[in-house]
Amino acid sequence: MKIVDQLKSGEPAFSFEFFPPKDEAGLERLFEAISELRPYKPAYVSVTYGAGGSTRSLTVDLVRRIRDEIGLEAMAHLTCVGATSAELDQVLRDLRDVGAENILPLRGDAPQGHAHFEAVPGGFSYASELVAHAKERFDFCLAGACYPEGHPEAPSIEADLDNLKKKVDAGVDFLITQLFFNNEDYFRFVDRARAAGIEVPIIAGIMPITNVSQLKRFTQLCGAKIPPGLLARLESNEEDRSKVRAIGVEHATDQCAALLEGGAPGVHFYTLNRSLATREILDNLRSR
Ligand code: FAD
Repeated sequence: MKIVDQLKSGEPAFSFEFFPPKDEAGLERLFEAISELRPYKPAYVSVTYGAGGSTRSLTVDLVRRIRDEIGLEAMAHLTCVGATSAELDQVLRDLRDVGAENILPLRGDAPQGHAHFEAVPGGFSYASELVAHAKERFDFCLAGACYPEGHPEAPSIEADLDNLKKKVDAGVDFLITQLFFNNEDYFRFVDRARAAGIEVPIIAGIMPITNVSQLKRFTQLCGAKIPPGLLARLESNEEDRSKVRAIGVEHATDQCAALLEGGAPGVHFYTLNRSLATREILDNLRSR
């Protein structure tokens, strides 16, 4: 089913993001996590696309297995990195052939060792070009990435929003935000997007914190700010993994409750292929 149609129900849409594991043991752990999260009835799950297209066939195959073997709607991410439009077209055809109905077209990041993203000859420079390509040739529901605190490369929040408008106008049906820890960033961003004429649903991206050094690494890459009080609590418990998870779960539970209360159509969990923290957050939300 197309995710944009599911969102019309008005029920909060919970979704879980996974990455394709590199080996059998990782795959086994992932399927265990998916089966633990399945009872929470996600509107959909999504499968990331490795840097430089490194997981192309793994992404397609995982989407197929999650749809066919588990019966969950699975959306494939797809990036423009290192690929011509003809190669991307082939991946889109492969995805269509395994029954995928939902795609998240992305530009992707510059490969390691490169300072800036550069399209290959015959490739795309921005996600909006892949969106337009897919819209013209296929019948997928298309998602788009967006950045409540601004994309790290954008010269300004305003320029980033203008570019986002172009991407949505090219055919994006709904947006998923980059992870953020301060709800004001989300609500301010939604207000600005609406004022700019972006009307599609904007799903909030939440990463349950379970590990302090990993948190610092991710936020450094994507530019998300960690509230100083939260960071101080995490750092003073850094050695105690279950305490760190408990602090992260508490923060994310409060965030999700306020986001849904404030009108967010859903929450997309960056699970990192682990289920426990996400399950704890969803259990907390149910019992509130
Ligand atoms: P774009 O929308 O193309 O934007 C990239 C930059 O270009 C922005 O600064 C934007 O302002 C600017 N821009 C856009 N259009 C124009 C224009 N016409 N003229 C000038 N400037 C323009 N990465 C992966 O490798 N694999 C994944 O599976 C993956 N999944 C993700 C899922 C989500 C929900 C999110 C939020 C991110 C994900 N990423 C993933 C990371 C993503 O690839 C990076 O954030 C990347 O740097 C930008 O991708 P984009 O699709 O948002 O790019």
